Amino acid sequence: MRCVSTRSPGAPGVPLSEAISQGLAPDGGLFVPVAIPEVQLAPGPLPQLAARLLAPYFADELLGAQLEQICAAAFTFDAPLVPLGSDRLLELFHGPTAAFKDFGARFLSECLTRLGAQQTILVATSGDTGAAVAAAFHRRPGMRVVILYPKGRVSARQEHQLGAFGDNVHAFRVSGTFDDCQRMVKAALADPPLRSKLQLGSANSISLGRLLPQMAYFARAALEVKAPVNFVVPTGNLGNALACLMAKQMGLPIGRIVLATNANRGLPDFFQTGTWEPRPSIVTLANAMDVGAPSNLERLRYWKLTAEADWVDDDTIRSTIRRTWEQHRLSICPHTACGVEVLRRLKAEGADGTWIVAATAHPAKFETIVEPLIGQRVPVPPALQQLLDRPSSAEPLDPTDAALISRLGSL
Ligand SMILES: *Cc1c(COP(=O)(O)O)cnc(C)c1O
Repeated sequence: MRCVSTRSPGAPGVPLSEAISQGLAPDGGLFVPVAIPEVQLAPGPLPQLAARLLAPYFADELLGAQLEQICAAAFTFDAPLVPLGSDRLLELFHGPTAAFKDFGARFLSECLTRLGAQQTILVATSGDTGAAVAAAFHRRPGMRVVILYPKGRVSARQEHQLGAFGDNVHAFRVSGTFDDCQRMVKAALADPPLRSKLQLGSANSISLGRLLPQMAYFARAALEVKAPVNFVVPTGNLGNALACLMAKQMGLPIGRIVLATNANRGLPDFFQTGTWEPRPSIVTLANAMDVGAPSNLERLRYWKLTAEADWVDDDTIRSTIRRTWEQHRLSICPHTACGVEVLRRLKAEGADGTWIVAATAHPAKFETIVEPLIGQRVPVPPALQQLLDRPSSAEPLDPTDAALISRLGSL
């Protein structure tokens, strides 16, 4: 399927495969497929369901014939639904780096590898993206990963993960915010001399190669529950939530979709007032959602999609983690807690039907927050433990576009 830039909707566009390898559109906009097709799907295992869901986008594409193998190679772990009272948690953290971003990063890596890409992938991370992308591209021939993360704003275990890969993965600790990291990556990607010197690619949630596969687990969950379901999706850059909104557009049996942010409340305010005001990001316990200017907003506005949204402050994140343990014996991460609290409010207002909260990361990544609240050790999943057992190192970097561009020039 052809893809156009959000900023040049009338242009002829490029094939999806090219949009996936390019990342950001040349005019600075985000690539969008020209249509969101409707599909009829039967329930099934995640890899097969993903292949059927994504088939219309990959028809007539270089990668089309390999879509089933791509999905089988990327989705090697499950996204189980577990009970949360009469509702469910959709556990998206059973991949190699224990956050939902493993799904998209692994799919993107399979696509780029099969396209024969030789790239330096730039990625700004508010905590989990960097590790997922690093794991997905680690030791892939011809590929190099450059990670930028904001110093002091990711959890200790997240930081350890980011620096634990080595080989073709370079981690930079930026003395700034996530928004700085994101801006620096965009500037480097748009720098003509650098682009001609290095084959630059991106793997942030602006990448279609990450966005599209994320629809699959929402579709799987919606079909598994059998009745129409409603979702609460913890949101930062709007990648995961946009995938849920797209799955609904494709005809999956999805009712309400409610976004949950932390105190970075730009989106809830936007849906309420209709006016977008970008703001600096503020530091919260749910650090992977500390985003002031969500990059995927441009796609949401392009498609004129709307959603409901609510926000949760740090004190309530804490009380929700404690309450969810007391009531359900479930330990949840601070991001998931935003979703669980928003669901509690919805139910208190009389919302009916079955609800699913996307559980976006494993609580063991945030043990310094979660363990004191629940008075228990959170067992570390084996894949995460393997990374924590490796040595870790990162290089400091000033929060300026020039600093990144010059450092990349000498990589
Ligand atoms: C990235 C992330 C989010 C936010 O997802 P977006 O796609 O950026 O909205 C939420 N929770 C966790 C644990 C994350 O890593």
